Amino acid sequence: MKVGMTLGLSNIEYSKIMREYEKRQVNRKFILDNRKREVLLKIPKFKELEDELISEAIKTAKSAINSPSKDKSQDISESVLLIEDKKRSLLVANGFPEDYLVEKFICPHCKDTGYIRNKKCTCFKQAIVDMLYQQSNLKHTLHKENFSTFNFDLYSKQENNGQPSPRANMEALVNLSKDFINNFSSNFQNLLFYGNPGVGKTFLSNCIAKELLDRGNTVIYLTAYQLFESLADITFNRNYDTSDNNLYEYILNCDLLIIDDLGTELTNSFTTSQFFLCINERILKKKATIISTNLAIKQLASDYSERSFSRLYGNYQFLRVYGDDIRLQ
Ligand SMILES: [Zn+2]
Repeated sequence: MKVGMTLGLSNIEYSKIMREYEKRQVNRKFILDNRKREVLLKIPKFKELEDELISEAIKTAKSAINSPSKDKSQDISESVLLIEDKKRSLLVANGFPEDYLVEKFICPHCKDTGYIRNKKCTCFKQAIVDMLYQQSNLKHTLHKENFSTFNFDLYSKQENNGQPSPRANMEALVNLSKDFINNFSSNFQNLLFYGNPGVGKTFLSNCIAKELLDRGNTVIYLTAYQLFESLADITFNRNYDTSDNNLYEYILNCDLLIIDDLGTELTNSFTTSQFFLCINERILKKKATIISTNLAIKQLASDYSERSFSRLYGNYQFLRVYGDDIRLQ
């Protein structure tokens, strides 16, 4: 993935997303028109009810013009509801689902327009993020790695030196992650998972990412290597724009940023200071970040600048993940 190649969305990419939304609308209309035709063909009486609805609408309009003061809307809407009810019964009686002619949206929030009152819907922002990061592989991973595929049996129940068993520890971490998700919009929190490779840190992050994406949040997943590459590009190529199609804006403003494998990247003084700016800015904006690392805390403290570490230490929950390497099982 060449994150550094694009600092923002090109017009071509932008119109690609717009076309996707248009396609959805056209598809929806196509399906609905076909269904309507099918229903009218099978249930001729359905047309009568449709006509009744139209004349009700005309009545409403007329009465509003003739006597603007008198509130007739109550009984008129009741008769409309009655007709709608009859339509549904007719559908069911003829073997159709009762919502057969109800439009179904992929995103009910914006009804697949991408916008809510001139503002981009989160689904649109996520589409931009996915385009910027070519994150389609993330979705593929999340399909396989989520709470429903989590297997506690991979963790031993054996206690060691008085510390909780890996299994008990993981159960506690999963519960904590679920709390993190459920309180996401009301309670600003950051998590830092640390522990040996292969004990399930990335899996936990992915579980959280999936839930929050499903709930309409914007999520960016980057390995530390990718993040530092992007930060280096931004540092050395300052002519990026500040529109919200911009990569850096999304790193700072997305609802959840996941930085995987911190400690495996190549760093220099520029990138470490950019790293500080990034995590600090997100803390100030109260935007959640999840970091996972194979480094021990001591190592973390010595590898990163003191001010970065103190921001992490003061604002992140440090959570140790341990057990056998689940990738080998
Ligand atoms: Zn939407």
